[in-house]
Order: sequence, then C-alpha cells, then structure tokens
Amino acid sequence: MTSADIIIIGGGIAGMSAAYFLAQKGKKVIVLEREDQPGYHSTGRSAALYSETYGPKIIRKMSTASRSFFLAPPDGFTDHPILTPRGMLIVAMPGEETKLDELLTEGRANGADVQALTPDQIGALIPIIDTRQFIGGALEPAAMDIDVHALHWGFIRQFKKMNGDIVTRAHVDKMEKTGDNWVITTYRNDQFTAPVVINAAGAWVDEIASTANVAPLGITPKRRTAVMVDLPAGINAEKWPMTATIDEGLYFKPDAGRLLVSPADATPTTPQDIQPEELDVAITIDRLVTMTSLNVGRPGESWAGLRSFFADGDPVSGFDPAQTGFYWLAGQGGYGIQTAPAMGEFAACMICGEDVPGHMKKLGITQEALSPTRPGLAAKTIEPDS
Ligand SMILES: Cc1cc2nc3c(=O)[nH]c(=O)nc-3n(C[C@H](O)[C@H](O)[C@H](O)COP(=O)(O)OP(=O)(O)OC[C@H]3O[C@@H](n4cnc5c(N)ncnc54)[C@H](O)[C@@H]3O)c2cc1C
Repeated sequence: MTSADIIIIGGGIAGMSAAYFLAQKGKKVIVLEREDQPGYHSTGRSAALYSETYGPKIIRKMSTASRSFFLAPPDGFTDHPILTPRGMLIVAMPGEETKLDELLTEGRANGADVQALTPDQIGALIPIIDTRQFIGGALEPAAMDIDVHALHWGFIRQFKKMNGDIVTRAHVDKMEKTGDNWVITTYRNDQFTAPVVINAAGAWVDEIASTANVAPLGITPKRRTAVMVDLPAGINAEKWPMTATIDEGLYFKPDAGRLLVSPADATPTTPQDIQPEELDVAITIDRLVTMTSLNVGRPGESWAGLRSFFADGDPVSGFDPAQTGFYWLAGQGGYGIQTAPAMGEFAACMICGEDVPGHMKKLGITQEALSPTRPGLAAKTIEPDS
C-alpha cells in the first residue's frame, strides 16, 4: 500500500493544478488517472479560450484571479507564453439589440475593454461574415488563446520535479475509510492511502462519490461538439478574433490556418468517452455556411467533449460536509482551463487549512461561493437524454 498526504483522483487540468499547488506547500501527493495519459477527456478537447467576461460571476472572478499566473508563470514552467492574443467578438442579429446593449454595459461595468462594432467594422475584421444578417457586435480585444498543453504539462512537469507521483491506468474502483485514512483500490488491485482525497474526476465526480459512500452533488455532463473546417486558399484567418453569435448558436475560432467551429451545443448526457453525433456536425456546418460566405464541401475532423455543471452553474471546491477528508473539485463547466491556476491555488489553501489567498479575497472570492453546502447546489440533477 502506497501512502501520501493527499490522493487526487483525476489527472485533468483540475487535478493537476491542485497537485501542483499542494506539492509547492510541501505535501506528498499522488494523482491517480484512469487513462494512459492525463488530459484525454475534457482537458484535451477544449476550445482553449481565456475571457474574463465569459461565464457566471464566480467564474469571471476566478479567471481574473488566474491572469497573473498565466502572464507570468513560475520559472521553468513553460518555454513560451501560455496566453497569446486572440480577441472575442460576439455578433447580434435584429431583435437582439437589448442583449447586445446589456453585454456591452455589463462588460464595461466589470472593467473589461469591450468595444461596440458596426456591421461594416465586423466585415472589415472578418471578411467571410455575411454582415447583412447582423446589427452589430461586441469585441473584447483582451480575450486570449490558451496553450492548454503547455499549461497542463507545465503543472505536470513541475509537480513531478517536486516529487509528485502520477499513476496512469489507475482506475479507482473502491474507496473505504479505515480510521482517519482513505484506502483506495484500483482495477489493477493497487492500493493507496491518505487522510485526504480530492475528487477531481470531471464528469465522473458523482460516480467517485458513490464509490466512497458520499452523497452525490448532482453533476450534469453536457456534450459539446467541435469540427475543423478548411479555409479557401488566400484567406488568412490568423488575426481574426474568436467569433460567437449572441444566442450561442455557433462559434468559430482560427486554429493553425483552419477554423475550429462549434454549434455551442450543451446536450445533457452520462459520463463517458463522448463522441460527436453526425447530426450535430451537420448542424455546425449548416450554421457556418448560413452565417458566412464559406462553402464547406467536406468538414474536417470532429470531436466532442463534456462540460460538466452543477445545478446552479457554479463550480465546487470544498470538503464534503458529511465525510471527513473528502474534497470536491468539480463543476468547472466550460471554463475549467481559464480558471485552473486560481482554482488549483484555492483548493490547495483550503486543504491546508489556510485562508482564501489575499489576491482572491480582493476580487470577492469566498469559501461560501464554492462550498458544496451552498443552497443552490441542493437543487435537482438535470435528467440526461441519452
Ligand atoms: C468543446 C469544449 C470546449 C471548451 N472550451 C473551453 C474554453 O475555451 N476555455 C475553458 O477554460 N474551458 C473550456 N472547456 C472546459 C474545460 O475543458 C473543462 O472545464 C476542463 O477540462 C475540466 O477539467 P477536469 O480536470 O475537471 O476534467 P477532465 O479533463 O475530464 O479530467 C477528469 C479526469 O478524471 C479521470 N477519472 C475519471 N474517473 C476516474 C476514476 N474512476 N479513476 C481514475 N481517474 C478517473 C478521467 O480519466 C479524466 O482524465 C471546454 C470544454 C469542451 C468540451
């Protein structure tokens, strides 16, 4: 039996960011990851955007709290910038004037640089858009591309340097409490023990809870599809912002000379190695062709990933109220990459019995807002459709 101070279940961005910050505090940490490689599930399937105006309030605060780490990661973390300029443009159709006004007003009230664009300005920025369909847009120039691989592997490399262990192909199968310690058994019958376990299993957090005899919190994984599309010769999309419709029906983002396109679907499902549905790929292309001058003969590769939410849409980072030593780190939804540095640091502080870090307190981040006992969380689970 291998022992540690803390065992983390799940080697995605949530688990690895917490592992990194805990190792920095001198804790002996073991990460158990079911797959051959950490990052196989949601972490490896994201659209890789950083926007401080995207998502619910606590997410926006966590994103802002992560910015300094992204812009100045510790020495040796990565050899190139994690964030690179991208910009984010939201476009609105006739009838969506109020929504657009609200977006501009709220963004500015939060201190973000959000600029109103006319249809002509949108066309000048992204020539493929059929500007006749739109009344205007909101551009957030400060939105960034995230190098997700550099971030995830930065955490992993630094964690290993601090004597952290990651065990892959370690599917957690059984969890028991023996005295003050958890005893965790994997499918391969390896055993690990620690007084504290972090449940960072993404879409599977409720399954892990059941394994540990802990009441589930009601996570709902939602499928999101992404499709790669080639651009015609002569079109250089490198400087285009990520572009989304205000009704969240479509977004596209330049990616290595092509476009990553998504219908922004959010179909409730069960935790699984999710695959794209043909119909969603067809819908994606149809919406793209309708909104732009592009002719898409054959779409490129497509994939789907899970964005997992609790009933109130906010993430959880805190000890379970009923089972000592069981820590929840879950429900990051569609924002788990852009919030990872702050979420990881916050979890490490809570687990070590420390206060909320000062830079987060200044932003109004509290333990209560992320607590598994907050009132909104007691709400029902959304029924999966498949
Ligand atoms: C299409 C798409 C676009 C997105 N775009 C963005 C974006 O632009 N910006 C952003 O910030 N976020 C984005 N996200 C969200 C982001 O990807 C997630 O919030 C984040 O990856 C969640 O990380 P995680 O570590 O919680 O989950 P995961 O990466 O899924 O990690 C959980 C891990 O737990 C492991 N596990 C599960 N059960 C067990 C078990 N029994 N034993 C051992 N290990 C287990 C799994 O194998 C998995 O590796 C997007 C997501 C999708 C799908």
